[in-house]
Amino acid sequence: MVAANTNPKPVTSAKVKVQKGMRPKHVPQRTCIACRSHDAKRGLVRVVRTPEGTVEVDETGKKNGRGAYLCRYRDCWEAGVARKALDNALKIQIDPESRKRLKSYGESLPERSAADVE
Ligand SMILES: [Zn+2]
Repeated sequence: MVAANTNPKPVTSAKVKVQKGMRPKHVPQRTCIACRSHDAKRGLVRVVRTPEGTVEVDETGKKNGRGAYLCRYRDCWEAGVARKALDNALKIQIDPESRKRLKSYGESLPERSAADVE
């Protein structure tokens, strides 16, 4: 009598593999402070409040300090700077010099309507 084969595969719970590396990458949710949307395709531009109390565009996204994000569209920069959304986001009263710089940076960007055409 051979009875050894009546037993199907032994279930060993210890063999359950923990799937590692399946975790989705941590992608911080960045929202444009002007239009409240995010544009993963074109990306957002970081604006940072420096320890000196000025506000500048942080193209590298690596500067220290409180940051806020704006779309790469002129519209959002105009709205963000003019409506003080940026001031609120950075919890600072943006000084006139910084405001001027941010404005002119925004003016170098394309308009949303033009940029959206595919
Ligand atoms: Zn925007």
